Amino acid sequence: MGDSKTRHLVLVLGDQLDHHSAVFDGFDNKRDAVWMAENHREATHVWCHKLRLAFFFSAMRHFRDELRERGRAVCYHELARLKSDDRGETFAEILRKGVHELRPEKLIVVEPGDHRVWEMLDATAQDLGVELDVRPDRHFYDTIAHFKAYADGRKELRLENYYRMMRKRENVLLTKDGEPVGGSWNYDQGNRETFGKKGPGHIKPPRRFQLDDTTEAVIEMVESRFGDHPGPDDLRDAFDFPVTHDRARLLLRDFIKHRLPDFGRYEDAMWAGEDFLYHSRLSAALNVKLIDPRSCVDAAIRAHEQGDAPINSVEGFVRQLLGWREFIRGVYWSHMPDYVECNALGCDEDAGVPVFFWDGEADMDCVRHCMRSVINHAYAHHIPRLMVLGQLALLLGVHPRRFHDWHMAMYADAIDWVSLPNTLGMSQYGDGGIVGTKPYCASGNYINKMSNYCAGCRYNPKQAVGNDACPFTTLYWDFLDRHHQRFSNNPRMTFQIRNLDRKREDRKQMKAIRERADRLKREWIKPRPCHAGR
Ligand code: SF4
Repeated sequence: MGDSKTRHLVLVLGDQLDHHSAVFDGFDNKRDAVWMAENHREATHVWCHKLRLAFFFSAMRHFRDELRERGRAVCYHELARLKSDDRGETFAEILRKGVHELRPEKLIVVEPGDHRVWEMLDATAQDLGVELDVRPDRHFYDTIAHFKAYADGRKELRLENYYRMMRKRENVLLTKDGEPVGGSWNYDQGNRETFGKKGPGHIKPPRRFQLDDTTEAVIEMVESRFGDHPGPDDLRDAFDFPVTHDRARLLLRDFIKHRLPDFGRYEDAMWAGEDFLYHSRLSAALNVKLIDPRSCVDAAIRAHEQGDAPINSVEGFVRQLLGWREFIRGVYWSHMPDYVECNALGCDEDAGVPVFFWDGEADMDCVRHCMRSVINHAYAHHIPRLMVLGQLALLLGVHPRRFHDWHMAMYADAIDWVSLPNTLGMSQYGDGGIVGTKPYCASGNYINKMSNYCAGCRYNPKQAVGNDACPFTTLYWDFLDRHHQRFSNNPRMTFQIRNLDRKREDRKQMKAIRERADRLKREWIKPRPCHAGR
């Protein structure tokens, strides 16, 4: 592109709010500019949660302002309060306009977190005849290239092996002799406590942040443009995300001091009305790069060294950041674009999430509580995601891509690279065992053990048939029955399949289970798009 007005146009996407990003290497305030865009189309192609939209737009606008304070020119496409002509423009069209206006010699971007976006940027740059310089994302410990080389030639990918390799490579939680601190690599067995009948008692909730003028303006815009989207009744009251690096650091400090010590023990526990328990709630800030995972890992290790947090909590937290988060990013980039089409259990293409996944209006107490957390906070910790909402979708036979679409719409921390392997892979077993060696399925008894949800529920977790039967229990046996052949060869499913075989001896009961499961599926699974309600 001749006659350049701008030397380099640096593209900063909504999940790349990192001042230390490689896109700023060599940035010249006099000759280069930053480009950022809010886009109506991206916000509506799935029926996005209002808090998710407000979080992204507010964090982007704060980042824009910080860049300007640093003397950087920022070309920012802002959505106006009222719907206007720009509502139909795609991201690529907005970018095209910016490039025509600024006529850069080169576009620079850090690796996007979404394969579709990467392809779109490639195609747009080619179309415009301008070079696209894609730089590695230094936010992560591992690089895409290294992970691919690590995975190449391995028969199977296992988190545990990868995690230990990363601990050694990064010298994290190791003694001077290179042994794991505390003597063990893994404290998972000790991290499954429940609260018992008395419950968790008082837990200091995560720090909230006052709304500032920028967030107020964003909330007004979101209410006006996306008012019919899912979300809490009062967006202003519900909005409590850190939208700057400073606030993300305060949230980390708050977690380390008040919740990390008991995080490990109760990592898998759930309790009605306690949406955060001992979890950090840092995932949204981490995934838009408002905080560096190294600072989180270092702060947790420091707390352990000072005697303020036990090793099981610290190792559990480190495993999530240095192990799981890096592992699934590697899986995503090693298997895309085919990964999104995986459907190992042969789910019906049209099978979308139940209608109550949008409004929480379910008669199952566990689902109602977990959905209330999703609607009020665009968040649920990993067990409600995996073992309540994710599991229900799995047992019902929701198509894994549709479950991923829903997850992308409803959680503030969902970016394609993190959502797809977690939902389609781990939660829905859609990849047939790349991410997890077995499907995460259990009867209502598991939920009863890990929470107090069942105590007030109209259903009985022990019953599989009859009007009071817990839908999870009915659907669990039906799921195993439908996939008996596939899972009978899986050594990690032996115990469950053996129990099913015993259950099958009672033919009358099995028939009733199948009939009830079919009825529930017919009632709840609608062949409707994931942006249902619009
Ligand atoms: Fe959920 Fe079943 Fe327990 Fe009700 S009985 S809360 S539906 S697991």
